[in-house]
Amino acid sequence: MPLPEVEPDAVLIRVSLANICGSDLHFWRGDAPLRLPEDGWIFGHEMTGRVAKLGSRVKSDSLGRPLKEGDRVAYTYFYPCGRCYVCLNNEPANCPAKIERPRGPRDFPHFHGAFAEYYYLRPGGAIFLVPDALSDELVAPVNCALCQVIFGLHQAGLRFGGSVVIQGAGGLGVQAAAVAKDMGAQTVIVVDQIPNRLALAREFGADHTIDLREIADRKERVNLVRKLTGGVGADVACDFVGFPQVIPEGIEMLRSGGAYLEIGTISRGAKIELEPAQLVWGAKRIVGVIQYDPWVIPRALDFLVRNRSRWPFEKLVSHKYPLAEIDRAFADSEWKVRDTTTIARAALVP
Ligand SMILES: [Zn+2]
Ligand SMILES: [Zn+2]
Repeated sequence: MPLPEVEPDAVLIRVSLANICGSDLHFWRGDAPLRLPEDGWIFGHEMTGRVAKLGSRVKSDSLGRPLKEGDRVAYTYFYPCGRCYVCLNNEPANCPAKIERPRGPRDFPHFHGAFAEYYYLRPGGAIFLVPDALSDELVAPVNCALCQVIFGLHQAGLRFGGSVVIQGAGGLGVQAAAVAKDMGAQTVIVVDQIPNRLALAREFGADHTIDLREIADRKERVNLVRKLTGGVGADVACDFVGFPQVIPEGIEMLRSGGAYLEIGTISRGAKIELEPAQLVWGAKRIVGVIQYDPWVIPRALDFLVRNRSRWPFEKLVSHKYPLAEIDRAFADSEWKVRDTTTIARAALVP
């Protein structure tokens, strides 16, 4: 593709690292149905890169710090419209128009996704300088996994000294354990069925882990959470599993007045049975979160700078592939996901 003419408020970015995220695997498998353009679709969204060309009006990043070509940057990949009821309410993450239908590479500005040499940050996209202390491997998951987790716990109302149950010790789950501790959580409990993953969750700050195969009875697990939270239940419980059958159990693990954070189940059409009276009598909330408000990115970068030696973030990216081997990267990731003993993401180096 020819490099696009950069509009005055846009930024052309040379992608240095692009991760294969769980939702990319959903698209690749076809279980998140999409209408694709005839000329194909450049997808992928979890990435970092360097400024290749600044639009003529762009002089600084979204925090007002001078920006020049060659600078390492982290940035959003979705664009709240700024012209709808939700945007007017200052809720950019909730804008229903922030992600558009897939566009083909023939459409200007051609570079719509992470799995390419370039990414075109459209006018209005948030962009932030990356601290030198952070490697590309640490920064690549920031604009999807890490920001989503931070924003989710924020939206669910986790507070200093609170308690959290994390269902699913995958990439998002282990990062959520670390974020919750950094936010001041007193008790972080992680539930999964793979011992390796639970061990990694403990390395990322989990105070307690519950192995589903050791404690096979749901009632026993709920009672254990109650016991570990001083007899009251958790302030916040989160679905990072992507298997919606776990949701009712997570809601049961909440204290009265607690919040359930739903992030894991992105596939439309998946259904569960739920007893609404549990919400009413327990005064519980369910909070759905997709993406995040742009203010989260610089805070996520700061989080990594202050915690990079506290938790082993480098374990979250395992294999690197050149872009030409994208098919192998997906096949390997799929195999690993099915195998479920390892959580590390595959990364493409365009
Ligand atoms: Zn993602
Ligand atoms: Zn909007």
